[in-house]
Amino acid sequence: MRRSDKEITDRAEIEDILNRAVVCHLGLCDNGIPYVVPVNYGYADGCLYIHSAKEGRKIDILRNNSNVSFTIYTDENLFRSEMACNWTMKYSSVMGTGRASLIEGRTEKEEALRCIMQHYTETNLDFNPAKVDKVVIIKIEIDTLTGKKSG
Ligand SMILES: Cc1cc2nc3c(=O)[nH]c(=O)nc-3n(C[C@H](O)[C@H](O)[C@H](O)COP(=O)(O)OP(=O)(O)OC[C@H]3O[C@@H](n4cnc5c(N)ncnc54)[C@H](O)[C@@H]3O)c2cc1C
Repeated sequence: MRRSDKEITDRAEIEDILNRAVVCHLGLCDNGIPYVVPVNYGYADGCLYIHSAKEGRKIDILRNNSNVSFTIYTDENLFRSEMACNWTMKYSSVMGTGRASLIEGRTEKEEALRCIMQHYTETNLDFNPAKVDKVVIIKIEIDTLTGKKSG
């Protein structure tokens, strides 16, 4: 990383960002053309979990190319100044790459959905089995992970 002063090397700090952020920008490769989709997610044991409809462009792409990248950020804060060049954005962010697989089995899907729900609420909520049947889970096994913090 060019700005090594901003690099986060502590895995626990990187995982803290993953656990606190709200949205994942998932990067896919559609026959050489980049396609980035904002999604909600859950994180556990080196994997990201994303729920999705069974059809659509991102699922079509993933069925052909399981290589993904992702960007996740939080703590964004805009600092203003009298001078244009002194305006800046503070942030904590994570970027990574990994391999995606699609989970379609009911038990594994419910486990992944619980992980996603736990990311957003401590309340243990029930799932509607008919709705669980309609979704697929994208599981991303993370290969590389870097963290960066400004401010
Ligand atoms: C904050 C946030 C959280 C989300 N969380 C989830 C989630 O957890 N799971 C999930 O599956 N989806 C989520 N979505 C919706 C997601 O971004 C996609 O719209 C959706 O997954 C459909 O993607 P697709 O590739 O199947 O698109 P398709 O329905 O196949 O549509 C293809 C085309 O529609 C356009 N398009 C698709 N999505 C968007 C978009 N978001 N904005 C503008 N244009 C778009 C693009 O031009 C794309 O080429 C979220 C969106 C936001 C903004």
